Order: sequence, then structure tokens, then C-alpha cells
Amino acid sequence: MHAVRARAQVGRRLSTPRPNHHALPLHQSVRIPKRLASTESQQPLATPPPYRPSRWQRFLAFTGKVTLITVGAGAGLFYYIAHKDRTPGIQLPHDPSKKTLVILGSGWGATSLLNSLDTSEYNVFVISPRNYFLFTPLLPSVAVGTLSPRSILQPTRYVTRHKDRDVAVIEASATDVDPFSKTVTFKDTSEVQGLVSATTMKYDYLVYAVGAETQTFNIPGVREHACFMKELDDAENMQRRFLDCLESAAFPGQSKEEVDRMLHMVVVGGGPTGVELSGELHDFLEEDLRSWYPELANHIKITLVEALPSVLPMFSKQLIDYTESTFKEAKIDILTKTMVKEIKEKSVVLQMPDKSIKEVPCGMVVWAAVRADPSYNPYVCGAERVMNLDRATPSAKSRATSWRSCLQTR
Ligand SMILES: Cc1cc2nc3c(=O)[nH]c(=O)nc-3n(C[C@H](O)[C@H](O)[C@H](O)COP(=O)(O)OP(=O)(O)OC[C@H]3O[C@@H](n4cnc5c(N)ncnc54)[C@H](O)[C@@H]3O)c2cc1C
Repeated sequence: MHAVRARAQVGRRLSTPRPNHHALPLHQSVRIPKRLASTESQQPLATPPPYRPSRWQRFLAFTGKVTLITVGAGAGLFYYIAHKDRTPGIQLPHDPSKKTLVILGSGWGATSLLNSLDTSEYNVFVISPRNYFLFTPLLPSVAVGTLSPRSILQPTRYVTRHKDRDVAVIEASATDVDPFSKTVTFKDTSEVQGLVSATTMKYDYLVYAVGAETQTFNIPGVREHACFMKELDDAENMQRRFLDCLESAAFPGQSKEEVDRMLHMVVVGGGPTGVELSGELHDFLEEDLRSWYPELANHIKITLVEALPSVLPMFSKQLIDYTESTFKEAKIDILTKTMVKEIKEKSVVLQMPDKSIKEVPCGMVVWAAVRADPSYNPYVCGAERVMNLDRATPSAKSRATSWRSCLQTR
């Protein structure tokens, strides 16, 4: 096929008279047209067959077109979603004929309700001291600096702004709930406050999703010296302390005992949070510390303290065994049947399984022992009344009075 095409080309070129004959002597320039004329008369030039791309070329062209269309459509869709995200449109205003629904909290309970709630049926108010939802399972990653705090939270207003009817988000702490008069009192507890910082509003329905408070069991030194692991501030606080321990241990002239002490991390609580945190600490120390602080890497020690006979007591035996063997391999010490008696600035006092008391030097203690009692949030007076509403008796009135006095003395 190529030969035919080449011949056709040559034939075409030769048939056109050359404009420049200056290089040829006269007798030659006369002979050439003669020869061509004779050739043309004998064999007419065949028209070249239409160009047909190979299968492979057709496949590439097709793939290219599909890719182009997909990328274009994807970019358009992405732009549309991003635009819709940023400008969700006009929402219905609150309607006085609708019932008022007040949601206390912006955590897991409150946010999952908000996500699935049809707000066109109610006038919804969300009251919470934090105006975002925190993805708690990733909190330990923030604590060791693997994730940035922004990546594990979602603004509550983002959720509410995409609802049909306007949802009012109020950054405040509920301080009192009265289920008899159906009122909730809340106050602005943030650093910056306006002239009005406390008010009471009526509700028709109340959703009480204020979570539980970290329990210290009145153990001395917990509040003063331990890091907590519940809120974003806790994770950031722990991250600061943790890095401080590393830098201070790397300070020139530090004794071996002091380096060992500062690099001993004690996690209290063998529940999911404590186990996750110990694992996260270990991974960080193994993967990053060996590169950044090679001289300290061999001094690191992690101890997990649990008062019960095993870690993760709420999970299956198989998972417990797996966790314990993995931790053993990772050289994380698990101390079960061990109770924390006191936390000091540079040590933790433990009651061992044989009831002996041992003071263990350490650089940081993380308190991951949370009592999971949803009815326990000491900041809302009246919580008990909400929980026991169906059992409310006339004596509930006197109980309410004592709740109020507890609020005033706080
Ligand atoms: C580090 C960590 C890891 C975890 N990992 C897991 C896991 O992997 N799987 C799992 O199932 N669970 C996990 N949990 C537990 C899980 O986070 C809790 O069970 C869950 O948060 C409980 O949801 P909640 O809505 O009851 O409370 P929270 O999510 O704690 O929400 C409480 C809300 O109430 C607000 N609030 C507090 N006081 C007031 C007040 N006075 N007035 C109004 N609002 C108030 C708070 O600001 C917050 O928004 C983890 C917890 C932690 C700390």
C-alpha cells in the first residue's frame, strides 16, 4: 500500500512541470516531458485509497475521547457540587405554627439526629458549647500530630445550612432544664461575650445529647497532671506535652535516668480509647521518632494501666487476646488489675495486683478512663429530671430546687 502511495506521489510530482530548469542542460529538459507523456498515456495514475487508521490507533482515539468526556463531566460535576456546598440556597424561615425542637449538644448523638432530621416539620435550635462535630476515633492521631485538628471536625453550621428550614445554632452551654415548664436555660461560656450572655427559652421537644463527662474518681493529681483525651483541646494539649518530653529528653547533658523517665508514657484506661492511643503512640514513635530522634528511640516505653483483669473488657475474648499479643510484640506493657492511686508531676503511684504500692517515674500520663454514663453531665442542672421524667413525683420539685442551688454554688 505504501509503495502504491509513494508511486502516486512521485507520479503526481513528475507530472507537474518543474518551475526551475536552470540546473539542467537544454537537451535533457526537452527529453523529460516526452518520457512522462509516454508513461501517462500508457498507465493512468491510480487515486490513493482513503486513509484507514489501524485498530490500535482507533482504540487510542476512542479512549482519548472517552477520557476527555469523563474528565470534562467530572470537572463539571465537581464544580457543581462544590458550588452547591458553598451556596446552599435559601432556607425556609422559622414558622410560628410549627413545634419547637431544641437539641442540646453537637456530638455524635446530636449530629446524627440532625443529619437525618426533616427540619421542615419543626423550628429547630441547636445549643452546644462547641459549634462543630468532632470525629473522636481520630483524636489520638491529632494527639501525636499525624492529623491536623481541622481534618477531624465538621462545623455544625455546615450541617444545618443544608437543611430545608433554617436551624438556629447557638454556641452556649445549657445550665438548666425544666421539663415541667418546658424551658431550657443556657449561657455563653466562651471567652468573648456580648451584653447578653444568658437566656431561657421554651421548647416543645427536647433532645438531650450532651454526652458524658470524663471521670477522675477523685483520684489526687489527675486534673492537675494528667492529659485528657476527649476534646480537641485535650489532643492539642497532649501533643504539646508529648513533644516537650521528647525535646527535653534530647537536651544536652540529660542523665540516662531522666531520659528514661521523660520518655515513659503511661496511658490509664484499657478501653478502646486507651488501646487506640497506646497503639497510635507506638506507631508514631516507631515510624517517626527513629528518624527524627534516633538517639532517643531506644529509651521509649509505653505502659497501659487497667484496673480490670483485661483490656477491652466489653469486646470478645478473641479480640482481647489479639490486642494483648500485638501489644506484647510491640513492647507496650499492659498492667491489668492495677489501679492508679495518685498522679504526681513526674510519676504515677500504682496499686499493683498484689496490693503493693509502686511509684513509677514517667514523663506523661494520659487519662483515658471515662465513665460511659450518658446521664452524667454535671453541667446541666435538671439532667436527672429529664432522665427520670416518666417517674417524676411531687418530690421532683424539691429535687429541682436542690439542682438549682448546685448551679448557684458553682
Ligand atoms: C478518643 C476517643 C475515641 C473514640 N473512639 C470510638 C470508636 O472508635 N467507636 C465508638 O463507637 N466510640 C468511640 N468513642 C466514643 C464516642 O466518641 C462516644 O461514645 C460518643 O461521642 C458519645 O456521643 P454523645 O453524642 O453522647 O456525646 P458527645 O459526642 O461527647 O457529644 C456531647 C456534646 O454535648 C455538648 N455539650 C456538653 N455539655 C453541654 C451543655 N451543658 N449544654 C449543651 N451541650 C453540651 C458537647 O459540646 C458535645 O457537642 C471514642 C471516644 C473518644 C474520646
